[in-house]
Amino acid sequence: MKLVYRNENNILVNHAKNLLENAGIEVLLKNEYVSTGSHPHFVFLELWIVNDLDEDKALGELSSLQSNEASEEWLCPDCGESNDASFEICWNCKHERNAQGE
Ligand SMILES: [Zn+2]
Repeated sequence: MKLVYRNENNILVNHAKNLLENAGIEVLLKNEYVSTGSHPHFVFLELWIVNDLDEDKALGELSSLQSNEASEEWLCPDCGESNDASFEICWNCKHERNAQGE
């Protein structure tokens, strides 16, 4: 068992899980509860591979996901907050992403 991906955004983690399953890799999801001052029940989702031998293949699949994540962040036209690429609405004001006229 090896941890290959970890994110507080469960959409991204589930996307990563789908990528690996489609590649024929057996995976497990785990939750990790993190206590911080401002987010007392902040949850990180962890994606584990069952077979260590799948690690290189898994990381290859995930590398594309992580580069997309970094490049497709969008700014809310309404409140100016930056939003993760996987968010369809602004986390801050619920403005719809498509409303900015893509
Ligand atoms: Zn906004």
